Amino acid sequence: MSRIAYVNGRYLRHAEAAVHIEDRGYQFSDGVYEVCGLRGGFFMDEALHLERLERSLNELRIAMPRPLAALRHILREVVRLNRISDGLVYLQVTRGVAPRDHPFPASQVSPALVVTAKRLNEARIAAAVKKGVAVTTMPDIRWARRDIKSISLLPNILAKQAAREAGAYEAWLVDPEGFVTEGSSTNAWIVDKAGRLVTRPASHDILNGITRRVLLEAAKVEGIEVVERAFTPDEARSAREAFISASSAIIIPVVRIDGAPVGNAEPGLLTLRLREAYGRVGRLT
Ligand code: PLP
Repeated sequence: MSRIAYVNGRYLRHAEAAVHIEDRGYQFSDGVYEVCGLRGGFFMDEALHLERLERSLNELRIAMPRPLAALRHILREVVRLNRISDGLVYLQVTRGVAPRDHPFPASQVSPALVVTAKRLNEARIAAAVKKGVAVTTMPDIRWARRDIKSISLLPNILAKQAAREAGAYEAWLVDPEGFVTEGSSTNAWIVDKAGRLVTRPASHDILNGITRRVLLEAAKVEGIEVVERAFTPDEARSAREAFISASSAIIIPVVRIDGAPVGNAEPGLLTLRLREAYGRVGRLT
């Protein structure tokens, strides 16, 4: 069965799905995106993803491409046409198509919308959760508005590639003051020596992950103490536990940082408990 994508009003086979060469996303990375998980045919925390989409668009002064109800319908159509019940839905909005020129085009240019869906490699995720993964740290060279889920991901992909070439799963990015901001496509967490869950507070420095937000809620429900503060790679290496979070896999334990073991180099108990708790707090629609 061929995959189907939604492109500006049409449902097309991937082989035929294309955008205009003067789409500003293609030429300037002038757009934003969202990735929402699907579990058993339901969207995970869809309302929070759509709320963040609206926020990202507002920050860049791009109009919502469709009313919310229409967007929700398109997302469901793409999932239905691709017959996916567990996977990821990708949604991208750009400022639209206009002759290449840096200033925003005239306001009558409509934003462009693309939606795709794919199955997740469940076996790969399960293996990563069971064994834990390694991360490497490197300088965070991104722009100053990482809270916007922009499609401009060059520093992120360079960091991820460098991590993979170093034999690690993820890159933890470090700000000029020496503190971890987040992963190249995940939020970063540790369990400190006192057993508290630690993650960097939401600000312009990180993407406020939907998984991060729901995990903070789950921790509260579980009675786990949380401190939102920055931590250094040194503290992370000597932490009790560490993990990364994102919609694609919820939580993956981190067992090595720059080659050094975290704890006994096995997935932490609190990490695994929180991963389970997510299932009770995340909302399916
Ligand atoms: N941080 C960055 C830089 C990301 O790209 C992502 C996800 O793509 C996340 C964090 C995690 O966000 P979410 O939990 O919404 O998937």
